[in-house]
Amino acid sequence: MHNKPVALVTGANKGIGLQIAKDLAGQGFTVLVGSRNLENGHKAAESIGEPARALQLDVTSQDSIAAAAERIRSELGRLDVLVNNAGISHAGKPGRTLEEVGQAGRPSVASLDEVRAVFETNVFGVIAVTQAMLPLLLKAPAGRIVNVSSGAGSLTLNADPANPHRPMFGAVYSPSKTALNAITLAFAIELEPTGIKVNAVCPGFTSTDLNNFEGTGTVEQAARQPVRLALLGENGPTGTFSNESRQLPW
Ligand code: NDP
Repeated sequence: MHNKPVALVTGANKGIGLQIAKDLAGQGFTVLVGSRNLENGHKAAESIGEPARALQLDVTSQDSIAAAAERIRSELGRLDVLVNNAGISHAGKPGRTLEEVGQAGRPSVASLDEVRAVFETNVFGVIAVTQAMLPLLLKAPAGRIVNVSSGAGSLTLNADPANPHRPMFGAVYSPSKTALNAITLAFAIELEPTGIKVNAVCPGFTSTDLNNFEGTGTVEQAARQPVRLALLGENGPTGTFSNESRQLPW
């Protein structure tokens, strides 16, 4: 069995995931840089250095997920932390202005194909990857699962008429994160007796490809809370949803 704790970050070839991978490598983990394009994964792993290894992982492909889990089992024999970071949004479609993003997310006109594609990655992908990695996580001394979610998925925040971001609550990206939050809680409840902690976190509005670099925060800021939740001690919480400053309502 590998002698250092092992962390897998999905979608770690760029953006917030790459920074989470870097920070976990700095915390003494061997980090698996999940990337659907292996070449991009290798480049990202090289940019981190020795503790990082690229791992081909397309979260929408059951074959890719099964092969990744088998590689971790046979080559390292352990997995301590899973960060479900990979995500897509209709907002990242090149050339779409913010106004067009708002339009495309309206439930009356949203493309069902787009809704399906976003749910496939942001929700079903997380369930599939988590299920495949659980046998390894269950053997870890302190298994941790962090789901990178978004305040955009909070029903409570978006039901509040005083919330200025409310008009952006659409039918594509936002409900995928609402569903991810529900999945997070369901896993946290089931896994509570095992000691595995499962938490959802909003990294904040961050400048990445996901929003055509319209975000205001840096990836360094965005990675802080996911990393904190990956390193939770025995008495840390499970089944929470938070951002950098507070617990968020579901
Ligand atoms: P990026 O677009 O920069 O990165 C997304 C990552 O997910 C990329 O590595 C991408 O790979 C990967 N990915 C997409 N689809 C798949 C797939 N099917 N299988 C494996 N990997 C995949 O976005 P961010 O870094 O901003 O997003 C990271 C997470 O943070 C997402 O879950 C997002 O929803 C969440 N988030 C982001 C916010 C922001 O303001 N940026 C705010 C709130 C939450 P590839 O390079 O191959 O496309």
